Amino acid sequence: MKDSFKETATILALENATTYNGKANAKALIGKLMPQFPQMKDDMKSYMKTLEEVTREINELSPEEQKEKLLKLNPAFDKEQEEKKKSRERKAELPDLPMNSEKEDIVVRFSPAPSGNLHLGHLFPLLYNYLYKKKYNGKMILRLEDTNPEKIAKENYDRIIEDCTWLTQDGIDEIVCQSDRLELYYKELEKLLQNGHAYVCSCAPDDFKNYNDNSQACPHRTQAPEEALKLYKNMKEGIIKEGEAAIRFKADLENKNPALRDFPIARVKEAEHVRLGNSVKLWPMYNLCVSIDDALMNVTHVIRGKDHEINGFRQDMIKDALNLRKSYYIVVGRINFTDIELSKSKLTIKVENKEVSGWDDPRMPTVIAFRKRGFRAKAFEQLILNKGISKRDSTISKAEFMKSLEFYNKQILDKEADRAYCITEPKKLHISNIKDIKRKDISIAYHPEDEGRGKRTVPIEEDYLVEGRDFDALETNNIFRLLHFGNFKVIEKKEDTLNCEFLGEELDKNLKLSRSIHYLSTEDKEDCEIVLPDASKVSAFSSKTGKLRKGQCLQFERYGFCCFDHEEENGVKVYYFTQN
Ligand code: GLU
Repeated sequence: MKDSFKETATILALENATTYNGKANAKALIGKLMPQFPQMKDDMKSYMKTLEEVTREINELSPEEQKEKLLKLNPAFDKEQEEKKKSRERKAELPDLPMNSEKEDIVVRFSPAPSGNLHLGHLFPLLYNYLYKKKYNGKMILRLEDTNPEKIAKENYDRIIEDCTWLTQDGIDEIVCQSDRLELYYKELEKLLQNGHAYVCSCAPDDFKNYNDNSQACPHRTQAPEEALKLYKNMKEGIIKEGEAAIRFKADLENKNPALRDFPIARVKEAEHVRLGNSVKLWPMYNLCVSIDDALMNVTHVIRGKDHEINGFRQDMIKDALNLRKSYYIVVGRINFTDIELSKSKLTIKVENKEVSGWDDPRMPTVIAFRKRGFRAKAFEQLILNKGISKRDSTISKAEFMKSLEFYNKQILDKEADRAYCITEPKKLHISNIKDIKRKDISIAYHPEDEGRGKRTVPIEEDYLVEGRDFDALETNNIFRLLHFGNFKVIEKKEDTLNCEFLGEELDKNLKLSRSIHYLSTEDKEDCEIVLPDASKVSAFSSKTGKLRKGQCLQFERYGFCCFDHEEENGVKVYYFTQN
């Protein structure tokens, strides 16, 4: 068995290395190996050791050696990759939803807590809801679940609304805040207490757990409704303090799953609420609010993470007790990122400790950070649509995720972005025979496939700036081309200047060009700064880009797509690097 594990691991690691710049990532392979070798779980240490050895050996090979070895082991690799690419391009559609009647008006909702900014983990439930809204021309509600006064922050409300509006391309039809609906929850809570479906329990948590785990009723379960309502009032008025009591739903104590026996639906929290201050003491909890809201808002389909599967059972019990309408529950598998931290509390600490510049720092996995970098909402939509909907959890590395996201984003930016040039390590290029150049200037289309956008003009000068890596690669006697301009020969290479001779304008197949490079006019350029995905900054020059909108992307040719953010007071334009 170990031999076949090693062989499969070798093939997967080679495929991984070939796809990701020659470096295989052992962690990213675990999710792929596990289903084939379930026994890994029993001896993770030794399997990991083998896997790490395999990846280490492979990472020492050159990309050519890796590819050669891979094709020996899996001759169909290239064909498989081609198929994968084709399937990504195919138009995907989500499966039909179950329905009560053909004409049912579909209502979906996305309901985050304002305890942080939206991040990659929220994308999937949010966009599945949106895609179904779109598929059925239904209604989508954004519901902010803020009935736990702890851990929520005011600025997150607006941020979430903005992110959702952006990601759904204005697809949110209604925005609701649960803290505006407390009276409604109290009314239903009173009904539950009145009808003997809930009780006020003042057991110490450990004592309660003991009763519940043993399917025994706690002493408060038999409380008379009048008593329950009196205690409820005391909780509401702050006479009963935090930690002294909880209101529990009376479920089935014989249920095989202890988590589905009596569970809490409201409790006292004394923390100040960002919207309501200290006025509220008794806070209805998630399962109660969601049951009431989903029913009263006519939500037909609840699409959410698999971690809420158990909550669906709890919510149906509450709905039965209150005679409320039920929704279809669709749970989606968790996407585990092997190397992206998505815990809201850990991300909050990073922001608070100023390890990052904010929630929109390019290193953050938040929606706002991706947006600021120039990723388009439509790219996320396409990625999720093509991934399909599944109850199975999946594991993905950052590199794999980014590869897919960039694939869809590039299709959008390629059409959208004007072309420009930028130079990060300027070196000089001097033309010795400028008199042989007959044209007055060089004109370059803003977009190669859309002449309608016009052209920019670069003056003819004796000196231009070229990129350091092009300068390094060119040697005396090399022939090269300045894009959209002409062919040149290096006469002499000095410390920071290439002396060149103009040979002619026409593209000539017989000329052996070392490379075709971009350049900037020394007169007609502007200062810019590019913020890279690791938050480091690069000072650069770019061709003149005129007035740009925040969020507008340009393609700096031979460098990558960059998203304009703002202009500094001194006129330097600041861009965020999007992708190649
Ligand atoms: N506030 C819950 C969450 O963010 C919503 C779960 C649900 O959709 O019911 O996980």
